[in-house]
Amino acid sequence: MIKLTRETIRLNAQARDKTEAIRIAGSLLVDSGNMQSGYIDSMLLREKVANTFLGNGIAIPHGLPKDRELILQTGISVTQFPAGVQWNQGETVYLVVAIAARSDEHIELLANLTDVLDDPATVQRLAQTTDAADIIARLTAARNTEVGAGGTATEAEDFAKWVDVALTGAAGLHARPATAFVEIAKNFQAEVRVRHISKVANGKSLVSLLKLGADKQASIRIMARGIDEDAALEALVAAVKHGLEDEADAPTAMTRQGAALALQARAIAGIAAAPGVAIGPLRHFRREKIVVAVTALDAAHEQTRLFQAIATAKVQLGELHDEVKARSGAARAAIFRAHEEFLDDPELVEATLCQIQSGHSAGWAWRACVEQRAQEVAALGDALLKERAVDLRDVGHRVLRLLANTLEEEPGSFDVPVILVAEDLSPSDTARLDPAKIIGICTAAGGPTSHTAIIARSLDIPAIVGAGPAVLNQADDTLCILDGDGGNLYLEPGETDLLLARQVQQEWAAQRETERLACYQPALTTDGHRIEVVANIGGAPEAEQAVIAGAEGIGLLRSEFLFLQRAEPPSEDEQFAAYSAMTRALNGLPLIIRTLDIGGDKEVPYLSLPAEQNPFLGVRGIRLCLARPDLFRPQLRAIYRAAATGPVKIMFPMIATVEELLAARAIAAEVRRELNAPPIEIGIMVEVPSAVLIAPELAAHADFFSIGTNDLTQYTLAMDRLHPSLARQADALHPAVLRMIEMTVKAASAAGKWVGVCGGIAGDPKGAAILAGLGVTELSMSIPSVAAIKAHLRSQSFVAMQALAKRALACQSAAEVRAL
Ligand code: PEP
Ligand code: MG
Repeated sequence: MIKLTRETIRLNAQARDKTEAIRIAGSLLVDSGNMQSGYIDSMLLREKVANTFLGNGIAIPHGLPKDRELILQTGISVTQFPAGVQWNQGETVYLVVAIAARSDEHIELLANLTDVLDDPATVQRLAQTTDAADIIARLTAARNTEVGAGGTATEAEDFAKWVDVALTGAAGLHARPATAFVEIAKNFQAEVRVRHISKVANGKSLVSLLKLGADKQASIRIMARGIDEDAALEALVAAVKHGLEDEADAPTAMTRQGAALALQARAIAGIAAAPGVAIGPLRHFRREKIVVAVTALDAAHEQTRLFQAIATAKVQLGELHDEVKARSGAARAAIFRAHEEFLDDPELVEATLCQIQSGHSAGWAWRACVEQRAQEVAALGDALLKERAVDLRDVGHRVLRLLANTLEEEPGSFDVPVILVAEDLSPSDTARLDPAKIIGICTAAGGPTSHTAIIARSLDIPAIVGAGPAVLNQADDTLCILDGDGGNLYLEPGETDLLLARQVQQEWAAQRETERLACYQPALTTDGHRIEVVANIGGAPEAEQAVIAGAEGIGLLRSEFLFLQRAEPPSEDEQFAAYSAMTRALNGLPLIIRTLDIGGDKEVPYLSLPAEQNPFLGVRGIRLCLARPDLFRPQLRAIYRAAATGPVKIMFPMIATVEELLAARAIAAEVRRELNAPPIEIGIMVEVPSAVLIAPELAAHADFFSIGTNDLTQYTLAMDRLHPSLARQADALHPAVLRMIEMTVKAASAAGKWVGVCGGIAGDPKGAAILAGLGVTELSMSIPSVAAIKAHLRSQSFVAMQALAKRALACQSAAEVRAL
């Protein structure tokens, strides 16, 4: 056991906040030669992703596993803060026990600490004592073997079902591995107990487990009692055998996924859409450049135009206010009232009229006066006034649009890498962008399954969607940190925030590198179950990128992307060239080509499709294919021809009825006969609830199913996947969607057919595990997710994933599933 000396105890310390308290406690360990100072930063970083408040006035800050090499010798320091330090909301700490642990020599001390936890009088005494010996005596005293409150009585009986297992990790059951154990145990309804020699702990209580003082290679008995006791035992034993500590340290996608940054800078909250952290200046995406004439001959006419434009802008702002108020509340909407006030500014209007009188056009005069006023306000140096300048420019832009002579297309190019901010981005907007210059994307509208999100993920650009209109009011070039996992855009961050964000960026990059190096290893679970991991692509060049990234084929070619950004549809030969370029790049790996899925949020101007009231419920997907043989047949011909160059499968989108499938198959059969081509597999997207309900019938006519969870979620929950406020709830992990998936898998397996998933949830670590557990055998995702998901699947057992899926199906909400 390690020694606790007076040098590593500090009494009567004071700190303004948690950060300062950790720095004080950590510096004791630096001074005593236990660790390098960098480990203090690591401790601070851990606070961002985990709570080290133990309870009853005690916190145990410790660093991240990856920084363990900064520890020179295992040690513990205790810093007493008699006045208390706020740790997190509602948590006050009096004793900060900083831990630098290379091994588990401190475990006995940790166990003593947990005894103190149950004893408020002792904590109070130690928080006020003026003699360090009191603390040393209490934390190093020989322990009695009672486990006490928070755990189970020593005398507690063993349950009927138990397994003895030896701890195999590098260390014993200390904070990190015990947390991992508790997290797994909590997934089950069964009661879980752990015995170590004569002590018995509640397996769902961290404190109770720590009290066991089980050191490395200790033998523990895991017991479970309840309806899912077998599954619980199996999962816990597997986790212990796998090495809980190692699992907690493993750089899997999970460790970063969802681990949101918590910075001090002002933040705009949105929906996490593509993972990663970006740091850089914000730039607004503008589809148009406003061109105004410099001069005008008729001043009276220009004056009328100005007043009309101001009046129209006021109407727009009023509507915007009401819309935002209904959607996001009065506070968020208030900005638009403020904007209206600017338009009533007599000085601004007078100055503009003056310029008009001297021969300028209304647009030119307005732009000049607004800019001059904004610069004057910004120059006053006050932060609040600076914001007013941003608002002024914004409202000025609104009026200017109305005064424009022309709105010109502006190319989406930037001189420096930027975080791109937009109301929303259509697929064609995003396609025009130069990914090398876009380091982050934040949109005011949209949801996690919108095409902005899909494209951001496929370009590996951290992104936030649905951030609300506030984001549109930020000035160009504002420095920001975009957290694509936490869904926050931090504005004008300070040095500490920047330091932390850069550290997380580096950590993320290191983790990605580890996963990348292992990307060609199959996704074989720890108990030997294989899941195929393939990629979603939109064009020929991506096929090669997918192979390089470790994809085992293409599970979804969104062929409609070949039809965007052009003046006419690609010819059969052009399509054949594109598909066969893909088979060449895939070199024998399978390619699933989805036939044209136009409609919904994907528009193709040259097709002149009639505008629809409800495009997602209109003529899209297979309905359009069947209605437009001029598009469908050449595509099928190109696919059958390309099938001679590699293993190609056809997939029909949006199948809702058996008739549609039969009609599409019949056309495919005709095309095949025309070409005298051999048959190829024909599957369908399952993305409409009716397809799930008639899956047994569809399975009779389809070779495979691929579940499009993006659409299946929006149609099951009746929530538009692009809706600014609903999209947040349109989560494919909703139990209703998961039950749909389960039904589909059951119907397919009864007919001997396989099921894949190609919606966004396949690329989410938790989603991937649940889908695999539900019996999905192929997961198709954006290219950058491939290596991370393979690593994640390799780190778990199939049995545990099945148990997880079972529990997910029984949940009541998506939030409950995500909390599993
Ligand atoms: C889906 O709906 O889940 C899907 C993969 O198709 P898309 O996102 O292209 O509509
Ligand atoms: Mg779809």
